[in-house]
Amino acid sequence: MSNCLFCKIAAGEIPSSKVFEDDQCLAFFDIDPQAPTHFLVIPKEHIGSVAEVNADNAGLVAHIFQVIAQETKRLGLDSYRVVSNIGEQAGQSVPHLHFHVLAGRDMTWPPG
Ligand code: AMP
Ligand code: ZN
Repeated sequence: MSNCLFCKIAAGEIPSSKVFEDDQCLAFFDIDPQAPTHFLVIPKEHIGSVAEVNADNAGLVAHIFQVIAQETKRLGLDSYRVVSNIGEQAGQSVPHLHFHVLAGRDMTWPPG
């Protein structure tokens, strides 16, 4: 999508601090971290949010979760939270599917 911030980051048109990249997805540190470790994992293909996951792209989402398991192990994180906000009321500010991975501090439940 031409005017999408995360499509531009995925294409390398806007720089990011990369954690991991392959042909399907990109992981990069959040510009405004909410925990000592806070990175995002996005598909390179534009998907608006979890609400647009379907039988055709579910394999890509499964792959992203494999990358989360792999990269958290590589970074030595054994406790972390994975969050995806869907829609304005839930706090989604970038309309391109992304999973926040947060670690390194005590977390509260329920989330605010
Ligand atoms: P959400 O509010 O759930 O849609 O998450 C969007 C996240 O993207 C926020 O945590 C922002 O801090 C983060 N973000 C926005 N722009 C950038 C950027 N250029 N590089 C890295 N993270 C960003
Ligand atoms: Zn996009």
